Amino acid sequence: QAKQAGRNTLCLFDPQMQAGLNKRAALEADLRMGLEQNQFKLFYQLQLDRQRRVVGAEAVLRWEHPLRGLVAPGEFIGLAEESGLIVALGNRALLDACGTLANWALIPAMAELNLAVNISAKQLSQQNFVEQLQALLSQTGADPRRLKLEISENLLLGSVENTVAVMQAATELGVGFSMDDFGTGYSSLTHLQRLPLTQLKIDRAFVSGLSNESDHAAIVRTILALGQSLNVQVVAEGVETERQLAYLMSCGCQYFQGYLFGCPEPLADFNARFNG
Ligand code: C2E
Ligand code: MG
Ligand code: MG
Ligand code: MG
Repeated sequence: QAKQAGRNTLCLFDPQMQAGLNKRAALEADLRMGLEQNQFKLFYQLQLDRQRRVVGAEAVLRWEHPLRGLVAPGEFIGLAEESGLIVALGNRALLDACGTLANWALIPAMAELNLAVNISAKQLSQQNFVEQLQALLSQTGADPRRLKLEISENLLLGSVENTVAVMQAATELGVGFSMDDFGTGYSSLTHLQRLPLTQLKIDRAFVSGLSNESDHAAIVRTILALGQSLNVQVVAEGVETERQLAYLMSCGCQYFQGYLFGCPEPLADFNARFNG
């Protein structure tokens, strides 16, 4: 037994591992602090239709860190998920997004815009997710029909029954669901068919591969066909060139998002496009 303890102790004091743990613990404490101090902001990226009319936006988080500057989600969403902080962070983002929607409703040029918000699997699996959503909607006065929740395929790694029930209840409130990064995850077509989705988003990996890799073109066409048979909208994300846009248009894609039209930007900059 002493030997066992010795081994564990040895393991704990492995300097490299300890350094890793320290770094992780420090980042987690930093995240917690950032949340308390409101350092997380939503940035907004345009979404357009085939006529290049702006139909809405996707809201993505940025961490305005006092020392590190603007930090992208790739640097903190993973740890936020593992530590469970994503629930507080995501709920806060959802509240902000609903506030934005309610504000847009008062600006004639923005009143018709939809807003998509990313929701993590952990957030959606909370016991009272739908009650909280309903509370946020009534508290802010946001129109649920303008709100879209972007979920990812890893949601289907958990209980599909539960996921379907939560999505149905939220759908009854008027909220739509978009399957983000479609084509990169695990969803089986059987599961997909059971979800009350309103939209599929083609992952940007397939869009960026359009110019050179012909198998990506085949995947894009397949997702568009699937969208049609499931009777949901399809959005292409990560559109960076006119050529990608032209190809997506020729395949019948309805909605587009990407640097070609605009990067995620602070709310004031986004609103300024509409003189809002
Ligand atoms: P996502 O939801 O797929 O968001 C799209 C990402 O693609 C954004 O990265 C956006 O900046 C980037 N993007 C948009 N257009 C282009 C383009 O033309 N080219 C390229 N190369 N990239 C483009 P971002 O903001 O770094 O977000 C990364 C991911 O972090 C998001 O992927 C989403 O999964 C997650 N995330 C962001 N905000 C939230 C949030 O509030 N809650 C949760 N749970 N996850 C979030
Ligand atoms: Mg998204
Ligand atoms: Mg995506
Ligand atoms: Mg992504």
